[in-house]
Amino acid sequence: MSQNVYQFIDVERIDPPKKAIQIRKIEFVEIYEPFTEQQAGAQADRCLDCGNPYCEWKCPVHNYIPQWLKLANEGRIIEAVELSHQTNTLPEVCGRVCPQDRLCEGACTLNEDFGAVTIGNVEKYITDKAFEMGWKPNMSNVELTDKKVAIIGAGPAGLSCADVLVRNGVKPVVFDRYPEIGGLLTFGIPSFKLEKDIMVNRRRVFTEMGVEFQLNTEVGKDISIETLLADYDAVFLGVGTYKNMRAGLENENATGVYDALPFLISNTYRVMELEQQQPFIDMKNKHVVVLGGGDTAMDCVRTSIRQGATTVTCAYRRDEANMPGSKREVKNAREEGVNFAFNLQPLAIAVDDNGNVIGVDVVKTALGAADAAGRRRPEPVAGSEHRLAADAVIMAFGFQPHAMPWLAPYDVELDQWGRIKATDTEFAFQTTNPKIFAGGDAVRGSDLVVTAIDEGRKAADGILDYLDL
Ligand code: FAD
Ligand code: SF4
Repeated sequence: MSQNVYQFIDVERIDPPKKAIQIRKIEFVEIYEPFTEQQAGAQADRCLDCGNPYCEWKCPVHNYIPQWLKLANEGRIIEAVELSHQTNTLPEVCGRVCPQDRLCEGACTLNEDFGAVTIGNVEKYITDKAFEMGWKPNMSNVELTDKKVAIIGAGPAGLSCADVLVRNGVKPVVFDRYPEIGGLLTFGIPSFKLEKDIMVNRRRVFTEMGVEFQLNTEVGKDISIETLLADYDAVFLGVGTYKNMRAGLENENATGVYDALPFLISNTYRVMELEQQQPFIDMKNKHVVVLGGGDTAMDCVRTSIRQGATTVTCAYRRDEANMPGSKREVKNAREEGVNFAFNLQPLAIAVDDNGNVIGVDVVKTALGAADAAGRRRPEPVAGSEHRLAADAVIMAFGFQPHAMPWLAPYDVELDQWGRIKATDTEFAFQTTNPKIFAGGDAVRGSDLVVTAIDEGRKAADGILDYLDL
């Protein structure tokens, strides 16, 4: 670390520069340039080492942030990457997609007055740089056991569970219905936030560590859970939440209305040049309205821009301050040409005589009293009804747990919302079937990459205890 205790004043917080807007509007590439070694070192050096690492507590996996910032500043990249992997399975992913303003950076002592340390970008820098230097996890001290665990779902929860298990000598076999690993990291989050080769690289790394992948394999269809329960010592469910939420609007199944995830998935298949399973959903030359205000809505508007939509409007029923999505992504969307229409509640999808979408009927809202969660309720303003013209509408209202009839006979209890119960049992993240563990969105409801990582890792600890290892 530098001897200058005022480094945090002398060196301003900077984020990496963004690519030119002309490129951002057409290309599915990450918009941020990487930090140079000098930038990463100087930004890491802004850490005060304040003695109360609130950043570490606010980070769901409790990364050793001040320690790896120090190592990054001293250029000790391999030590930094080893330390960061002690708590996090996918630091280069979290560095890119965590909402840092709500997590580590939001809690940084410097945040209010001087600008938080750019923790996420240094985290990303450390892992990217280490891979560039040829680093790979050291498995030479691992003592192999004769245990094997079936993991259903190659999203961040399943991968993190596999990571901890394989480092403890247990053989993980990961099943996923998709042709690539990553779950929503690959098929939901667009490549302008997280390029696809990041997870392709991770697949190579995990495979070299001893994780086996059985892709294009849907449990309940291509293989039964009964077989997995018979052949493996334990099973982990990291199956995510895939039921698209709808608003119950009139005509919401009209031609030209799409759910967010099929739209994003079909775009990923095109970007990755995979054979489409469903017809490609194309927004080229369309007037697009996206309903919703979260990260998924931001991904839809920005994907539509890149596909060549004529206009893209995000309609949200509260004001900008109350949007659930990351402020950084709203700013990026605006820069790329997205229009925001706040305080608008959709009433119905408007269609022509052939049943094709021609717009969304909306009413203006004013924020009323706070609801149980403390958020002010949007209330319709009488007489303010009007129509937003559109020839494509994307519903981005979020996700709920999907039905899993294949799981029904195996005593895995669900809560009233269909989430898997996996928190109140003998071992961490064990379900009501002692041999089955679960974590990630399927247990907590759709949330964040880093919380899925945290639960996958904790479930692996639970499995190790259950197997008496
Ligand atoms: P998933 O990532 O959903 O993985 C589940 C896996 O299980 C999938 O690969 C699926 O194919 C597989 N699967 C399911 N059922 C079966 C079966 N029967 N057989 C075989 N395989 C099966 N979070 C952030 O932190 N930052 C962001 O910027 C962000 N952006 C997002 C953008 C979008 C569009 C979406 C939808 C989510 C976003 N999230 C973001 C949330 C984040 O992606 C999820 O919280 C996280 O991926 C959940 O991880 P998971 O492992 O629980 O589930
Ligand atoms: Fe911050 Fe997320 Fe990294 Fe934790 S994992 S330090 S919250 S970017």
